[in-house]
Amino acid sequence: MRSISESQALEIVVIGGGAAGFFAAITCAESWPGCSLTILEKTDQVLQKVRLSGGGRCNLSNACFEPRKLAENYPRGSKELIGPFSRFQPRDTMTWFEERGVPLCQEAEGRLFPAKGRSAAIIDALTAAAESAGVKLSTGIDITSISSKSPRRFRLETRTEEPIDCDRLLLATGSAPAGHAWAKALGHSILPPVPSLFTFAITDERLTGLSGLSVEGAQLQLKGSKLKQRGAILITHHGLSGPAVLSLSSREARTLHKLDYQAQLQIDWLTLSREKIEQTLKSSKRNKPRLVVSAYCPFELPRRLWVRLLKASGIPHQQRWADLSNKQSKLLTSELTDGSYQVQGINPNKQEFVTCGGVQLKEVDFRTMGSRQHPGLYFAGEILDIDGITGGFNFQNAWTTGWLAGRNMGKEESPG
Ligand SMILES: Cc1cc2nc3c(=O)[nH]c(=O)nc-3n(C[C@H](O)[C@H](O)[C@H](O)COP(=O)(O)OP(=O)(O)OC[C@H]3O[C@@H](n4cnc5c(N)ncnc54)[C@H](O)[C@@H]3O)c2cc1C
Repeated sequence: MRSISESQALEIVVIGGGAAGFFAAITCAESWPGCSLTILEKTDQVLQKVRLSGGGRCNLSNACFEPRKLAENYPRGSKELIGPFSRFQPRDTMTWFEERGVPLCQEAEGRLFPAKGRSAAIIDALTAAAESAGVKLSTGIDITSISSKSPRRFRLETRTEEPIDCDRLLLATGSAPAGHAWAKALGHSILPPVPSLFTFAITDERLTGLSGLSVEGAQLQLKGSKLKQRGAILITHHGLSGPAVLSLSSREARTLHKLDYQAQLQIDWLTLSREKIEQTLKSSKRNKPRLVVSAYCPFELPRRLWVRLLKASGIPHQQRWADLSNKQSKLLTSELTDGSYQVQGINPNKQEFVTCGGVQLKEVDFRTMGSRQHPGLYFAGEILDIDGITGGFNFQNAWTTGWLAGRNMGKEESPG
């Protein structure tokens, strides 16, 4: 294997001017200064999702520094990302941006943001780094087809320009159908894209009018599934949101898609055992007999939600603790631990929305991000069948896989 500096300059084309494409192009241009790097972007504006992300603040990574632990945050990609994360992980992301004048700060659950609070800082750092590394950028370019008559030679036809030839091609088109179609044409299998990280549409008397209330330590489960998701739930105008809902939507993305987003959701509001709850109810009955049940909630639960759950258990609004029957106690315990709610659809998450599905992972070499099907072809970012839960994990995938592709696609392999 020879380095590019000893040979003729390689022409490398990156399709997609998003987080993964930029990171790969910059890394490649900095690691292999003799290469010619060009990013081809379809729209007029690069890094659009970075701009929108995290409500305009860009939650660009997560302070989870142990590769195996970090990889657990990816419902798809958890096994494949362990190796890449041992090469480039959130600590490296922090160093990368801090060295380029973007200090980061850490918020709840390890979320990392630019300290000055705007995603523009990330965009400026990436565009400045690309420019100083000599990466060429072409926006508003409409590629109509990609062909490859021999390994490591690609021809891109465009609607308006001359055909573009290159020796290496990186597809970093996110979840765009065109990227999937090109990967398929070059020999890859594509797992059908379906939404991930969404909130649940639920119309239910127990929740109506409670928008804004949240419960910290709840647990969710789809009926018939073994997967349980703990975390905070937020009641919204449309149903349920919050970290636990987003994580469940991600982990159950395929199942929910198969069910056409009509599913039975079991909510355990307290994550306490039935025995513990029954004991607490008994002791409230003993110690607070004169109090009205709806006025005294012995659990960590918003009182307005407590009142709704009492109603759903058939406990009259003015009933006193002294009159709580065994039957009512059992019904209330079921309502608190295993209430059933009908999911009637999904709402995209406004803060972060990703797609599960894409290029099949076993067809990619995660040591290099190179295709196992077609020499000279590379992948990075969301085009792969990788997606993370909310918290900065999706961008970290783009940085890590982009960095790995960048480090490897400038190498000149021996022929074959
Ligand atoms: C509203 C929103 C907020 C988000 N917030 C966060 C967050 O805070 N933290 C987090 O970790 N993740 C967040 N995400 C997810 C994150 O943005 C993505 O996972 C990440 O952008 C993927 O990077 P990528 O480079 O692979 O793809 P993209 O960012 O999607 O980039 C792909 C690029 O390819 C271009 N392209 C597509 N088709 C073509 C074509 N035919 N020819 C040329 N170019 C093409 C696109 O225009 C785009 O510029 C958010 C997503 C959304 C939608």
